[in-house]
Amino acid sequence: MRKKVPSKEVKIAAFERLHERGVTIEDIAKIVYEMQAPYSKNLTMDHCLESVYKVLEKREIQHAILVGVELDYLAERNLLREPLQSIIESDEGLFGVDETMALGSVFGYGSIAVTTFGHLDKQKIGIIKKLDNKLGKGIHTFLDDLVAGIAASASGRLAHRLRDEEEAAEEEELMSEENVG
Ligand code: MG
Repeated sequence: MRKKVPSKEVKIAAFERLHERGVTIEDIAKIVYEMQAPYSKNLTMDHCLESVYKVLEKREIQHAILVGVELDYLAERNLLREPLQSIIESDEGLFGVDETMALGSVFGYGSIAVTTFGHLDKQKIGIIKKLDNKLGKGIHTFLDDLVAGIAASASGRLAHRLRDEEEAAEEEELMSEENVG
């Protein structure tokens, strides 16, 4: 039997892959901020950074990063067999496995995450736009969708948490008013 891969190794590798491909946590957090700012007046960049980190803790997301980035990497080096090499190299619009894989990683975070992913898939913003730009040298067929998936998950997660926080604060206010009264 092959040895089990320790979780820590997987996590480190996933963070390294993002870094190698030029994607920072800040880049992803900026997208989360843009997505959630209209809905929350108390939103800060720190909230967004924390949420991105929390999403990246999930093994399922880490695995998706490892698979997707690896395929981009191999395609850049012309190491895939045909016809997959050409499909990934050209970011063939009907391929869809890149979107499907990223979308799969989003489901755990509820409907806000799913609709945000759909939005980001269409309106590529920030680092996603940079990655999608086919003028560049690199191949990011999977990475742009992975980043959209991480940002969407972090947005969904944050939306629920901020609401919880708001309600807790309101309740506290009400309680103290009652005590004063
Ligand atoms: Mg893609």
